[in-house]
Amino acid sequence: MSLISLRDRQTVLRRDRFTCQLCGAKPPDVKLEVDHKTPVSLGGKDDTSNLWTVCFECNRGKSNVWDDGERSGMLVGKWFHSWTIDRRIAWQGRVADYAVDANMFLVDTLDWFCGDFHSQRLVSTTDMKNWTFYESAEEMRAAWEEYAKTA
Ligand SMILES: [Zn+2]
Repeated sequence: MSLISLRDRQTVLRRDRFTCQLCGAKPPDVKLEVDHKTPVSLGGKDDTSNLWTVCFECNRGKSNVWDDGERSGMLVGKWFHSWTIDRRIAWQGRVADYAVDANMFLVDTLDWFCGDFHSQRLVSTTDMKNWTFYESAEEMRAAWEEYAKTA
């Protein structure tokens, strides 16, 4: 059981400019929540570096971010971990491009050891629903280190 203090919630909401960090929506269009970026069950911490502002819909994987070309485009440039069905990290990489017509993303995967470019893949939006996204390579690496401690 993990609790996020009211003070941390307010800090995170202000830092994220009261905007959902996945789809860019703001109140009153959506209800915002502060939640863990890397889940506590996967070793994520309660400090504000691992907290972010997401809307109710995104937080439950139901957001129309996945059906709306303009919003999906916001994922381009973000770093990611993809997950296997049993919640192990499958790939690390960066979203390279988004094909609106096809509703597919082009992603660069990175080598686990040296971090260099490994391969490029086309991924459907459906396949990306449970991925974790990061703003920077540093953030992605930090999340991996936390994950590696528990894996
Ligand atoms: Zn959202």
